[in-house]
Amino acid sequence: MKRRDADNTDECPHCRRSIYDDAEQCPYCGEYLSLEDAPSRRPRWIIACAVLCLIAMLWWALRL
Ligand SMILES: [Zn+2]
Repeated sequence: MKRRDADNTDECPHCRRSIYDDAEQCPYCGEYLSLEDAPSRRPRWIIACAVLCLIAMLWWALRL
């Protein structure tokens, strides 16, 4: 039977409590530990739209 070491614990960046470092979500405060796992992150299509708008504006400015 394999037991977890104390080395496998990390500190939650939100509530500063000791949690397992491979946990996706803090069991104490419920916050996600990495941006990749957070469901409320900024969608990629917003960034794509912003880049497309910038390119369109540059193209329009260079045409004049
Ligand atoms: Zn926490």
